[in-house]
Amino acid sequence: MSATIIKGKEVAAEMRAALKEEVAALKEKGIAPGLSVILVGDNPASQSYVKSKAKACEEIGIVSEVIRRDADITEEELLREIDGLNENPNVHGILVQLPLPKHINEKSVLNRISLAKDVDGFHPMSVGNLVIGDECFLPCTPYGIIELIKRSGEEIAGKHAVVVGRSNIVGKPVALLLLQENATVSIAHSRTQDLPGLTRQADILVSAVGNPRFIKAEDIKPGAIVIDVGNGVDENGKLVGDVDFDAAKEVASYITPVPGGVGPMTITMLLNNTVEAAKRMNRL
Ligand code: NAP
Repeated sequence: MSATIIKGKEVAAEMRAALKEEVAALKEKGIAPGLSVILVGDNPASQSYVKSKAKACEEIGIVSEVIRRDADITEEELLREIDGLNENPNVHGILVQLPLPKHINEKSVLNRISLAKDVDGFHPMSVGNLVIGDECFLPCTPYGIIELIKRSGEEIAGKHAVVVGRSNIVGKPVALLLLQENATVSIAHSRTQDLPGLTRQADILVSAVGNPRFIKAEDIKPGAIVIDVGNGVDENGKLVGDVDFDAAKEVASYITPVPGGVGPMTITMLLNNTVEAAKRMNRL
């Protein structure tokens, strides 16, 4: 039997509708959730991401501001910019669009963002809190993945989850979140031996590599939940995931498509974190 397709686009739309209502209710109490995004330089991909984030904020009523700075800004100037946002009570979330120009130390910049406003969840202290299971803003893509699995109605606890990829923005944090949900977690990467042997044991398979269709149907355990984070382009220029979707959906029980799976959840969780930050700052 064919797998149930986890439609991230629909889940994201539902969540955004609920957030829109929450923002309206907060505004009635005199609280207008605000997100400030700093964009340094003119990287086209970064510009496009920032534009999508601003549009999404506008759609649900979050006050968003994009602070554009030239690529030759000094690290000191950028840090001062962040200090100003940290002190501004109308700003609840701060996001610095990465990558930054080479002369700026990304770690120093992320470190400067107030923990209470770290809606991207990339501050080293937020990462540490995630590791020890303390309250923190969860990084948006991993958070969106957990939300998709939970909303499928399937249990995570006790399952063997295999995460392929160990980046700081997806692989590692999603593995930690699955562990927090009481899955037994394996993390695979480019040096893993016999990857298919491992993925075939996965009740939950999360792939975050960026290699078009490299996970084949025969590498998937029958009935597995398959979450495809990869964004790749195939030989015909089509956007595809890490998983060979058409064949895999005949083996899996649940599967996310690319596009329309994990992707739409990322910005949604950023909106969610910004609303949460506004609530926490106002002790709600
Ligand atoms: P990344 O930093 O490039 O990490 C890729 C990971 O894949 C690395 O850990 C790497 O292992 C591993 N890897 C590479 N080749 C492998 C192989 N043959 N077998 C097993 N593991 C292999 O990428 P990322 O930032 O995590 O992103 C991963 C993918 O997700 C990309 O396609 C990206 O565009 C997409 N993405 C999507 C969203 C979204 O919102 N949908 C968000 C973020 C990322 P090593 O560590 O050993 O090098």
